[in-house]
Amino acid sequence: MELEAWHLLVIPLFFAFGWMAARVDIRHVMQESRAVPRSYFKGLNYLLNEQPDQAIEAFLEVTRLDPDTLELHFALGALFRRRGELDRAIRIHQSLVDRADLPQEQRMKALYGLGEDFLKAGLLDRAEDVFRRLETGVHAREALRNLLQIQVLTKDWQQAVVTARRLEKLGCLSQNANTAHYYCELAAAAMLRGDGEGARAHLELAFKENRRSARACLLLGDLEAQEGRDESAIAAWRRIEDNNPTFLPIIAERLIQAHARLGRHEQAVRLLQGYLDQRASPDLLHLLFQTVAERQGWTVARELAGAEMKRNPSLRALDDYLQASNALQASSEGERVESRLAQDLVHRQVSQIAYYRCGECGFKARQFFWQCPACARWESISPERMEHE
Ligand SMILES: [Zn+2]
Repeated sequence: MELEAWHLLVIPLFFAFGWMAARVDIRHVMQESRAVPRSYFKGLNYLLNEQPDQAIEAFLEVTRLDPDTLELHFALGALFRRRGELDRAIRIHQSLVDRADLPQEQRMKALYGLGEDFLKAGLLDRAEDVFRRLETGVHAREALRNLLQIQVLTKDWQQAVVTARRLEKLGCLSQNANTAHYYCELAAAAMLRGDGEGARAHLELAFKENRRSARACLLLGDLEAQEGRDESAIAAWRRIEDNNPTFLPIIAERLIQAHARLGRHEQAVRLLQGYLDQRASPDLLHLLFQTVAERQGWTVARELAGAEMKRNPSLRALDDYLQASNALQASSEGERVESRLAQDLVHRQVSQIAYYRCGECGFKARQFFWQCPACARWESISPERMEHE
């Protein structure tokens, strides 16, 4: 290829363009920077020197001097909320909401921020008012989710059902399993009031939402038992066998008592033994152990605990076994101090480490909850007490 004279000009030209571009850029930046208030640079300086509190004050000054720095307003609002300085977050968001010159979209964004501030501050009434104003529009989903959270917190189950439906219509993941719990809450409240019919109606709705709902089975059984129909109660509780067998330890005691009222202890023992054959459960074992000890004596009870200890070793099985052993020894040759001590030790250990535990957040409790008090998830707490350190 022949090199023509003009080719020689190409490289210097590129340099010239580059130099011009750089100058234009610099001039642009200089112009911009003169428009930016000095406090802005002060803020940046503080940030670089890791003095966040002073930086925030400087940026706040910028927002006062220049109301057009919307993004900075929003950033500061979110920052204050995260830092727990809720009164300041509320002031920023409220001032944005009150501004008449703001485009609708920005005002809605500020309103949503305000709702989140109120929610975090525990001002639930005011948060609810704000989210109600956002039920339609771009923030509808988040607003409805927050509304639902407030309604669950305030135990407004009727409204929670309505909000869950609306969320489903907006294409949010099916709320059915939770809605079944809202109906169960309504049913439980009706039972407390002595309104059997109301409770039954709510339970039917719960089954419609989730036909395998273990909690609805449990409550239906409770209702039947309350009204003196133990046969029907047992049938309702036993639906859990197929629907959701992990919840059997929760209803086992009710089954034993209903069978006892009907004079059918042996049947209860066989039923629980059948459950234990299918799945290891120290809670079930303990209930069965107590019933067997009471009805059939310590020898059979000890055999039961011993067999279970070999099959599914657990401290609680050992506790039961030692209790039966001691009771037998005491009746035959007088109690031996060391075995009594061993049982006391194991028993104390068991009562210290056996907890219901949330699989989501790790919350531990002596009592079973359908909704985790810490993370607010439904059915995240295992219905079997675990042995934890
Ligand atoms: Zn939890």
